[in-house]
Amino acid sequence: MPDYTFKLLFVICFVAASVIRALGVRRSGQQRRAAERKLNLDALLLLLGFLGMIVIPFVYLLTSWLDFADYRLPTWAGLLGAPVFAFALWLLWRSHADLGRSFSPALEIKGEHALVTGGVYTHIRHPMYVAHLIWGVAQPLLLQNWIAGFCFLASQLLLYAVRVPREERMMLEQFGDEYRLYMNRTGALIPRLRS
Ligand code: SAH
Repeated sequence: MPDYTFKLLFVICFVAASVIRALGVRRSGQQRRAAERKLNLDALLLLLGFLGMIVIPFVYLLTSWLDFADYRLPTWAGLLGAPVFAFALWLLWRSHADLGRSFSPALEIKGEHALVTGGVYTHIRHPMYVAHLIWGVAQPLLLQNWIAGFCFLASQLLLYAVRVPREERMMLEQFGDEYRLYMNRTGALIPRLRS
């Protein structure tokens, strides 16, 4: 199968993800506060995510600069990228829908912040980050290039490692025992077998 088929599948999934994200941001009322964001570690991680999610993949798609790092997977592996990405999109959509106004790209507690423990948050605490990690796995199946394929996964693993402990500390400070109990019955990335 020609490799532009996988690239096209990537672009379709990317557009769908952008629509889901734009609707989620609108629902959260986030766009009005974008200008208030400061430059800090969190902003740097978001910038790396932006490079891995958008800039590097599209440099790869629109130029031949990164072609030296291409690899070739069997057709079935390339095709597998589409359902894996589709699952990530579903989880991204559901986590935006369930988080609603509590969503923000940056680490922060908003005035009207409600703790969400339902929907896809029932069994795991970070479904949105899981969606990004799964997207990060789909990307190297569709973009068969060591740089453009793996850049998003690398940025999300770093974001996860740095951000989750800080995010959970922030949530514990804000919601106290309510969040502690929620932590006891959920897993961070995959559901807990026993609480
Ligand atoms: N880590 C979550 C949310 C990512 S959005 C996920 O992966 O699905 C980041 C913002 O969501 C943080 O600023 C935090 O304020 C908020 N947040 C995280 N978990 C939350 C929860 N269970 N309920 C409400 N807000 C939450």
